[in-house]
Amino acid sequence: MKVYKFGGTSVGLPERMLKVKNILTATESPKVVVLSAVSGTTNDLVKLCKVYNDSLATGELLNAMRKKYRAFIRGLYQQEDRKDKMTEFAEGRLDLLEELVTKLPDSEAEILAQGEILSTQLFQALMEEDGVNSKLLDALDFMKLDAQGEPDMQHLEEQLNPQLEGAEIYLTQGFICRDHQGNISNLERGGSDYSASLIGAAIKADEVQIWTDIDGLHNNDPRHVRGTYPVSELSFDEAAELAYFGAKILHPSSILPAQKFNIPVRLKSTLNENAPGTLISTQSIDGTVKAIAVKDGITAIKIKSTRMLLAHGFLRRVFEVFEKYETAIDMITTSEVAVSLTIDDQSRLPEILTELKEFGFVDVDENQSIICVVGNMVSEQKGLVRRIFNALSDIPIRMVSYGGSRFNISMLIDTSYKFEALNNLNSGLFEEVESDLSS
Ligand code: ADP
Ligand code: ASP
Ligand code: MG
Repeated sequence: MKVYKFGGTSVGLPERMLKVKNILTATESPKVVVLSAVSGTTNDLVKLCKVYNDSLATGELLNAMRKKYRAFIRGLYQQEDRKDKMTEFAEGRLDLLEELVTKLPDSEAEILAQGEILSTQLFQALMEEDGVNSKLLDALDFMKLDAQGEPDMQHLEEQLNPQLEGAEIYLTQGFICRDHQGNISNLERGGSDYSASLIGAAIKADEVQIWTDIDGLHNNDPRHVRGTYPVSELSFDEAAELAYFGAKILHPSSILPAQKFNIPVRLKSTLNENAPGTLISTQSIDGTVKAIAVKDGITAIKIKSTRMLLAHGFLRRVFEVFEKYETAIDMITTSEVAVSLTIDDQSRLPEILTELKEFGFVDVDENQSIICVVGNMVSEQKGLVRRIFNALSDIPIRMVSYGGSRFNISMLIDTSYKFEALNNLNSGLFEEVESDLSS
């Protein structure tokens, strides 16, 4: 069985939902289908949680949502009674939202969950109108986080697998889940990719397909660089690095569950369904740079300690501070007198800095970006490092990480240099490589 996930843009207009229906009915079944919220909805819900003290702003936002869903429903169905029924349903969810707003901040996760609940109900009704044998499964019944905030795979397998009987299409919500106490929670922004991969792992799917608004994972960030192109094949390791280091097309954790069970992940475009897209599997071509990604919002911390730095146990004590405040470290470099590292979650920074200051002088640089060059780069690949540094010769590089894995070379720069760095690397790594190959 395959898992198909469609993102917000893919279900963002009535004609797109109809296209998704056509893609699903034209391909082999049974299958599991994971949907995101209609595009813009989760952003609206996030906004709602921010402006809830302002009744005028809240009212305007809810009215705009009501209008949007009414029009959406009018454009989606043929049958008048279905239009009426689903309008009533959507109005009910919007009434619920109005009530949940009064219970903020406690109701935030429940508010954010409404986008996926709406989109899947609308899609299920579309399948019913068309006579497709589709069953809507409630992700809140099987997607759950444990006390550490990690997905509970045993619960997922036990609750989901028995439900996969008697239908052609098993439709469910991405993104939403319960926490270990049973409260509504979510897998963080972009989490529907993660839902699809977790479901793929739980049902040992043949393939997970992520359908989005672009024809695969591109060699560089298409939002910042012109002339990018889709990479046809990536290994799990390469894709995991790219997702973690900022390629927005995939949720940062979405590759790992599929990789664990060797389930290929295919990225496809709903807007250009015949394009081959990107296949992520165990295959990878040696010695090639595949793609560049960028992760913003990074904070660099340097600890200078002439006394203790290379002393036995010093790094352990530094790491323990980050562990205590549950903050992951992305990059790390050491020298004789200092250690530099980066974090992307600043929420515990004040406590972390207070403790680190006991070890020596501490410098903090905010607004940094990690530029990550990914590929299966055997370390002796000729000239690659020279090419990277040549391309970045005008840009101050704060840290470099090379050799941690053979798939990734990362550089930390000030975010103000991001566009320049991505574009210069694009010319230096891809355009030069292409001209080398053709000469
Ligand atoms: P969905 O709503 O379908 O989950 P997303 O907006 O989360 O879609 O992801 C798709 C977007 O990711 C693309 O439209 C593109 O702008 C952005 N993106 C960032 N980096 C890359 C990349 N390397 N390759 C392809 N798309 C990328
Ligand atoms: N709707 C959620 C979001 O916008 C989850 C997703 O689309 O993957 O973040
Ligand atoms: Mg996404």
